[in-house]
Amino acid sequence: MTLPVAIYDTKPYDREFLSAAEGAEHFDHHFHSFRLEEATASAAEGAHTACIFVNDHAGPEPLAALAKAGVKHIALRCAGFNNVDLEAAKDLGLTVTRVPGYSPHAVAEHTLALLLALNRRIHRAYNRVREMNFSLSGLVGFDLHGKTAGVVGTGRTGALVAQIFRGFGMKVLAYDPYPNPDWAAEHGITYVETQELFAQSDVISLHVPLTPDTRHMICEESLEQIKPGAHLVNVSRGALVDTSAVITALKTGKLGGVALDVYEEEEGVFFEDLSGEVMQDDELARLMTFPNVLITSHQAFLTREALREIARVTTENILRIHQGKAPLEGTEL
Ligand code: NAD
Repeated sequence: MTLPVAIYDTKPYDREFLSAAEGAEHFDHHFHSFRLEEATASAAEGAHTACIFVNDHAGPEPLAALAKAGVKHIALRCAGFNNVDLEAAKDLGLTVTRVPGYSPHAVAEHTLALLLALNRRIHRAYNRVREMNFSLSGLVGFDLHGKTAGVVGTGRTGALVAQIFRGFGMKVLAYDPYPNPDWAAEHGITYVETQELFAQSDVISLHVPLTPDTRHMICEESLEQIKPGAHLVNVSRGALVDTSAVITALKTGKLGGVALDVYEEEEGVFFEDLSGEVMQDDELARLMTFPNVLITSHQAFLTREALREIARVTTENILRIHQGKAPLEGTEL
């Protein structure tokens, strides 16, 4: 007998990789294109597991509705879990799992892809050349070599990004409330407080989870501390950054460039084809007008290796929990 699993907010690549995972034959995948919210929780009726992604709403009401529908396990097919109320899940007796380190390389490499494209104006050069415009005016970048990078958060992704920066010959400053001094010494990286990191860095890259402490860590006050002309990269969670403050800092030139893979109000916009629609988000529309802003729509995770690993861990955990076994080590929240 196959087990029904309700899978929310799916795209073709989710369906492809989850269907191909080892053990997938045990499941009857109910792939939904809509997101989880209270009103859509009933779509999980009869399923043991609800599998969700970054913009699904797993607050107290949707979780209660899922529990009422018979769900026992919430399987996040991502690393971040800021969209899940863990207390409410616990009270309802729901097991919550995630996929913590499916491919920090995918996310770290995308961070560099964004920074290099932004700095060397590849996004502009690509369009120019296609228009037979071979002029170089306005495309001047800077050498990363010899510059200072500030890495906020030295967990799985931040550590890799810091090491890649070192490979470019950059000086790397880092901040993390749980520093790893052995790793830092091995790679020639210096831990400092955020104030020093902001003041010294030519490039600031954020690799922290979204929590009440980290929300709007880039705000009017922190932007005042940064080195004029610094470049900001955020591939972690949109709400780490106060968008209005960033727009002001771009207008004054305090920020020299911004690369974003995540956006505070990305829900309902990122991952969707809105090319035939009127953009309703004025701040996103404003951001897109800056020549020194580069945005991708939450695609840092999107490599074959990462999708395969997400599908493997998610599938194995669903089976294990259904069989009353413990989830894979380090995946339970
Ligand atoms: P991780 O848990 O391995 O590392 C996070 C690090 O942040 C830890 O070392 C932690 O100590 C540190 N930290 C916590 N609070 C901090 C603070 N206030 N200041 C500085 N550091 C702090 O996580 P990871 O795998 O490196 O991922 C980081 C985040 O990236 C995830 O939480 C997720 O939100 C996001 N992410 C985005 C994508 C994407 O596709 N864009 C993909 C994966 C992860």
